[in-house]
Order: sequence, then C-alpha cells, then structure tokens
Amino acid sequence: MTMEIGVVFTNMRGKPMQEPHILTAENVLKHHATIAGQGLSGAEAAQRLDTHGPNELVEKGRKSAWRILLAQVKEVMILILLAAVFISAALQEYIDAIVIFIIVVLNTLLGFWQEFKAENAMAALKKMTVPNVRVLRDGSEQQISAKDLVPGDILLIESGNVVPADARLIEAVNLKVQEAALTGESESVDKHSHRLEGDDYALADRKNMIYMGTVVTYGRGYAVVTNTGMHTELGKIATLLHGVEDEKTPLQRRLARLGRSLAMAAVVLIFVVAGLMYMQGAGWKMMFMTAISMAVAAIPEGLPAVVTIALALGAQQMLKKNALIRQLAAVETLGSVTVICSDKTGTLTQNKMSVTQVVLPDRRVTFDPAVVGHTQDIDLSLLLLTGMLCNDAVINDGNGHDILGDPTEGALVIAARQAGLVQTDLNTLLPRVRELPFDSERKRMSTVHAMPVSFDKASAYPVSALSEQDGHTDHILLTKGAADGLIDGCGRILINGKIELLDDKQKNAILAENTAMAENGIRVLGLAYRFVDEDELDRPKRYEQNLVYLGLAGMIDPVRPEAVEAVRLCKQAGIRPVMITGDHPLTAVAIARQLGLTDTDTFLTGQDLEKMTEEELAARIPEISVFARVSPSHKMVIIDVLQEHHEIVSMTGDGVNDAPALKSADIGVAMGITGTDVSKEASDMILLDDNFATIVAAVKEGRRIYDNIRKFVRYILTGNTGEIVVMLTGPLLGMPLPLLPIQILWINLVTDGIPAIALGYEEPEQKIMDRPPLDPKEGIFARGLGWQIIMMGVIVGLISVGAGYGFWNNGTGSPAWQTMVFTMLTFCQMAYALCVRKQHQSLFSYSWFSNPMLLAAVGVTLILQMIIIYVPFFNLVFRTFPLRWEELAVCTAGAVAIILITEIKKLFLRKNQNFVTV
Ligand code: ADP
Ligand code: MG
Repeated sequence: MTMEIGVVFTNMRGKPMQEPHILTAENVLKHHATIAGQGLSGAEAAQRLDTHGPNELVEKGRKSAWRILLAQVKEVMILILLAAVFISAALQEYIDAIVIFIIVVLNTLLGFWQEFKAENAMAALKKMTVPNVRVLRDGSEQQISAKDLVPGDILLIESGNVVPADARLIEAVNLKVQEAALTGESESVDKHSHRLEGDDYALADRKNMIYMGTVVTYGRGYAVVTNTGMHTELGKIATLLHGVEDEKTPLQRRLARLGRSLAMAAVVLIFVVAGLMYMQGAGWKMMFMTAISMAVAAIPEGLPAVVTIALALGAQQMLKKNALIRQLAAVETLGSVTVICSDKTGTLTQNKMSVTQVVLPDRRVTFDPAVVGHTQDIDLSLLLLTGMLCNDAVINDGNGHDILGDPTEGALVIAARQAGLVQTDLNTLLPRVRELPFDSERKRMSTVHAMPVSFDKASAYPVSALSEQDGHTDHILLTKGAADGLIDGCGRILINGKIELLDDKQKNAILAENTAMAENGIRVLGLAYRFVDEDELDRPKRYEQNLVYLGLAGMIDPVRPEAVEAVRLCKQAGIRPVMITGDHPLTAVAIARQLGLTDTDTFLTGQDLEKMTEEELAARIPEISVFARVSPSHKMVIIDVLQEHHEIVSMTGDGVNDAPALKSADIGVAMGITGTDVSKEASDMILLDDNFATIVAAVKEGRRIYDNIRKFVRYILTGNTGEIVVMLTGPLLGMPLPLLPIQILWINLVTDGIPAIALGYEEPEQKIMDRPPLDPKEGIFARGLGWQIIMMGVIVGLISVGAGYGFWNNGTGSPAWQTMVFTMLTFCQMAYALCVRKQHQSLFSYSWFSNPMLLAAVGVTLILQMIIIYVPFFNLVFRTFPLRWEELAVCTAGAVAIILITEIKKLFLRKNQNFVTV
C-alpha cells in the first residue's frame, strides 16, 4: 500500500499540480500521496518536513544581533562621544581619547547586551504562541505543533480554529470560514468539499479550499494540506503580517518623550556651564569636553533599554505563573486594572462536571458516581441516550473516566455510561447525519441521527418503542441546552413512556424545578427529542421546534479553592471581580456567593441588558457583579460602559465570538486550555491554566514591575541631577571644573547601567496588593517623584561639592579635592541604590542579599572606585589622587548621610501609613 503511494508521489512530483480546487478531493489526496481516513505515516511526514521546511512565515521584522548593534552605534550620544574621541586625539590628548573610546565601547556593549536580552525574551514569548493542530497520522488523530504540518497531512478543523496552512477540503459539516485576512471580506463564507467546474476562480470563490490565517467560525471538517509556510497564499503577502506586536508601550513612549525634553534641557545647561567656565577663563578645549560630558550626564540614554528589559523580564516572570503575555504593553496595563471580568465555568470553577441528578417529568433520579446500574425505563434511558449522542465529547477508553471535549458534555456521557449505555455502539446504531452545533447565543445543540433498520440491540430499545408510537422511523433529532430557552421549543412531553401534550402548568413546574436547582448552584441542561422526516433534514432553522420534552440533567462544578483567595485579594487591592456567564442567573449567583464575589442576590441577564436604555446601562452596569445568560455580544456592552466610567477592564473569553470583546478590553484574556485559536490571537494575555487566580497573580506582577520602573527612574535621574548640581555649583563657589569629563563619563557608565537593571529584579513591595490600582493616566513622575528626584539630586550634589570645597578651601593644599568630589558622588549613589529598593521599608528591615545582582553591582562599583583612586596607572588616566583614610571616612560619612535622610523619609511615610506614595 505505502509503496504504491510512494510511486504515485514520485510520478507526480515532477509535474506541476493543477490548482487543487478544480480537482476532485480524491485526486488531490492522490497527488499528495495520502489517504483520507489514515493520513501520512510519521516517517513520511518527517521526510516531507525536511523537504518543505517548517510551516511558518518567515518574519521580516526580527532584529538580528547586527541590527541591534548598529542601532546602538547610531545613537546620537555615541556619535557625540566619538567626536570627542577624535578631537581629543587631534589635540594630542591621547589618554583622554583612549579612555573615552573605551567608555564608548563599554557603553555600546552594555546597551547591546540589554537590548539583546530584551529581544530574546520577546522571541521566547512569541515561540510559545504557536498553536497546536489536530491531524491524522498513522491512522489516528494526533496533536502536533502547527509548525510541523506538511503537504499531504489530513487536518481536522473545527469552529474556533485559525486555519494553519492552505488545504483542500475533503469533508465539510456546516463549515463557515471568515477570510478577512486574505480577502478583506468580514462575512463568513460557506465551504464545501466538492470539485469546482472550470478554472477561473478568485481566492474568495474557491469554496472547497481553506487558507492559512483565516478563521473557522462554524462547523467542522477534514482537509488535506496543499501548501505550507511561505508557499501559502498568506505567505505570498506576508509583508502584511505581524505576530506578537513589538509596538512601543505607552510607558516607553512617555520615556522617549522625557529623553527628548531632557536633551533640550541639556543644551541649555551646556551653554550655562560654558558661560561659567568662560568667565573663569577656561580654554575652549576644556569647555568643549565639559559640554560633551554634561550632555552625557544629563540625558538618561540607558533608560529606554532598561525599561524594555524590565517589561520583558516581567513577562517572563508572568509566564512562570502561567500567564503568557502577547503584548508587552499588557505588562504595564495589568498594574492599572480596576475591574476583572471573568467567565465562570472553568475559570472560577474547576470545570470538573458531574451529573448529580436527573429530573424526569414524574420523578427525580439521583446519581451516585459509585453506583453503576443498567436502566430499563424508557424515559430515563431516552434522556440519557440524548445526552450521550447529542454530544461531541468522547470517552477515552484507554483510562477509565478520561474524556476528551467539553466537560459539560463529558459529564453527560459519563452519566449515560453509568446507566449502561455504550457510546460506540450507539454511534454505529444511530449514526449522526446532521447537526446544529452549540453556540453561546442559542445556548443549545441539536443532532439528527438516522434510525436503525433493525432494533436487535437492547440499547436502542427506547428509540424503537417510541418510533412505533410516533409513527415515524426515518430520523431522530436530539436536543440539549439551557432549559429556559429549550422549553419554548417543546410542544409535547414524555411521561412514563407516553407522549402527552405539554400544558402551561407543566411548563411552569419545569421552570420552577429549573430555578430551584439553579439556586443551589447546579448547572442545568434540558433535553428533548423528536422524529423528523427526510424533507425536514435540510431545514435546520426548524429543528428546535415542536420538540418532545424529556427532562432536566443537573450537574455540579465545584469552585476552584484558589479562586476564593484570589477574589479576596482582588477586593483588598481595590479591583472589582465580575462574573460573566452564559449559565442560569441563579446558578451564577450561588457560585458567586460561594466565591465571596458578591453578598447580594443582584444580577443582570443578557436580556435585561438588551432592554435597558443607555442611561440605565450606565447606571446599573458599574455596580453589578454577576452577569448571567450573557452572549459574547453583551460583553462588548459591559466593556463599553465600564470604560466610559474610566475603569481599566480585563475580560476573559474563549470562543470565536469573544474575539471582539477581547480586543476592546484593556486586557483581553484568553484561555490556554479550552480557548479557541481565534480568542488566543485576539488576546493580550493567555492563561495557560485557565485559572482566575492567574489573572490576579499577573496583576500583582504588573504592579511590581511598574514600581520597579519608578525605582530605577528615580535612581538614574537622581544621580544625573547630582552630577549636574556639582557641575553648576562648583564654578559658582570658585572651584574650577569639579569633575573632569572622564570622571563624569565614568560615573555615568557605572551608575546608569547595571544597578538600574538590578532594580528591575526587585521583589514586590510588602503591601503591593493593599493599595488601589495605579492611575493609568498618571505620568511617571506622579505622586511627588519628580520633586523627590530633584531634592535628593540636589542633596547628593551639594554633599559632593561641599566635600571637595572643604579641601580646596582650607589651605591644606591637597590636590585631591576633585577626587573627593568624584568619590563622594559615587559613594552617595551606591548608598542610594540600596535605599531605593523599597519604598517604605527601612534599609535595615530587608535582606541585602535578596537582590544579589544589585549588591554585586554596588560592590563592584566600590571596588573599581578604590582601584581608580589607589592604583597609580589609573591615577594617571582619571587624574585622581590617593585619598588619605580621613578623606575616605568623610566620603563614607556622606553615604551614611544619604542613608539617614532616606530612612527619615521612609519613617515619615510609614507613620502616615501612606502606602500609595512612593
Ligand atoms: P458558561 O461557560 O459561562 O458557563 P456557556 O455559554 O458554556 O456558559 O453555557 C450557557 C448555557 O448553555 C449553559 O447554562 C447550558 O445550559 C448550555 N450549554 C452549555 N454547554 C452546552 C452544550 N455543550 N450543549 C448544549 N447546551 C450547553
Ligand atoms: Mg462554557
């Protein structure tokens, strides 16, 4: 068999294939040497992967190491410094030239390393988002990475998939595909598997083809892959493509703007200092070098890179907590989230459903998972049969209770099995011929099955008995879904094996039962059936009418214990958790109460929302915590109103129809396990464990990262301010040039880079989830940060200048006064780096070793400073002098002073219990 196929493949290989849409499915399969129900063999697939390469679009935007390096070199700052190198050389100041050059190289390497790290972190995140696909290989269904698809693979697709490659359909059931990515048309088109006559078809008209990047919005099917990777239609236009977006986040943009304003300020400063120096009669050479070093001191050129690293590392940290970030901006926004809207089933609950009771029209049957017994009752077994066949979940018979598919459906399959029904037998006996899939608007699902020709199997017994009673034998339609909607489609009722008309009294009794169960937090599904004639088969709009009511199945889904704690944490952190569910309102309220999410019985349903006026919506939505019987379109209404109230909304979703809501929420959250590809692509963040608690953990992480960004902004800018103050006040006191250009460059290199990155690793503040969310509109200098930076910068600057002035002025004639300024500045900044780590906690209440990178950065900087002061060679290079021990003690005292000042400030903050202010 395989040999024969191998031959076909080689024979065909030479010839160009005709376009697959004008071939029959059989011919396409033949051309690709593959078999419909079987797929390729693993070995053949591996070989084809070698020939065709991975199924991925080659990204054009990815920055290579070289490009990053070049971008660094291009930085204006570095150009200025290089100019300084040449001018120094031209003036025969060779030592200066060499040292500045080395500093430029170190600076460039540091920047390069930083960006490379950030890029790598982003690339790793992107890799995680490659979806898995279902294929047939070696005769069985397998899950593989979309990257490993090859031409000839038999692909299974279903509603919610993003089509992973170009493929020719070989079977299509109600298949609808939205092809906007290729054709721009946003309406879904119907697809089929028949051959098209003629050959002049535009992409949009090739109804038997599916194309990479388009979206399956309905139905399911099988297709044989015809093209992969860059050979797909999407690959041909791949310039339009972007995966995880690298767009600058709002914070990055704000910092870029800050950089520009500081550059402007630097220009002004340069003129001021140059003026001061001119008055003291400095030579133009010195003026030029000083101007350049001032510019370097004033502009925080390392800041954008450090922020990017902090965000990217934050995303990595979130991944460890099962939150996969798809948009870097989400890391920032998470810290500001004020409302978390979450699905109930599976996110707040465990999605471990089990049927606990079945309510038939005349009696109640409780289900004990431990008890298995065969039932002979017509009504009970027909209800269970309906639950088992109107169902896409399958029992994985390999290991007992394991089910594949939707847990709600799985629970029904298991219940039926307990009563002795065998899924595989029933599937052969009553093969499915039509279906109307579940959707979250209708909240129902129906299937149509061909009736058996003979009824010798016992399990089909209820069907045959009823078919005789009803007079129809062609087909049977089975429906299950939300009872309150389903009942409207029921005209008759099956009581104890007899079909009767369903009157209003019975209807009300059923609805009352439904309500009573829901109040206890039970998820209820109604079940119904009817026989259908041949001519009704292709009129799905009329399927769910005139049904015979069978009964209710009630199932429990325990809440996630960790969600209870997460809900509490949310409330404590000023974030409102909101439940949004398709389930019955009373089930929803009961679960919400168990979670501590609400303590009232108030809720709104999707229908309520539809009836309300704009004003009513605006008034009610912000105070409701439970929304039930909601369809995906209602999520948009909820988001809109909340956002108008300036809330920062996180919204979860898993289905195809959730994509718009996920896009318009501030943080769109998709489910990693149960979510569709479409929802994942529309999201900012994916919960790998589908767990509500993970959202809250990500919020906490977002707050930590924002705090840390403020910490290193504070640190870097305080240092820069200190340097400028030194340069401005020195000449005013009559001291010529308190810091030499080389010294400024050195301080700037050592202090800006490494301690700042280390601050990005800082652990969260103790009370980080006790304070309200961040105001997303506040600037980076909000809550007094700007003033504190200036004040602290002035203090650091004055201490440093003061130390130098003392020695310059008191006639000891020590030539070391510049070295004093230089060393004092370094010591003060290192002390400050240690203090900045925590906003309120005393330096002596947290472990210095909990941020080893920072401790190392501080330690190394101090050692280097000693080398610069005491090694004769470096005395020459940096124009320093060995300090006497008393002088070193003075510098240490300066550092201690900085620590004391911040300690007093922190004490004051703690006294005021003002945990918001940094
Ligand atoms: P949620 O996920 O928020 O619980 P769903 O949209 O999944 O809400 O379900 C809404 C309602 O639709 C449920 O209360 C149930 O009655 C019905 N339902 C859910 N899953 C199915 C299904 N597979 N088939 C038929 N009806 C279903
Ligand atoms: Mg659901």
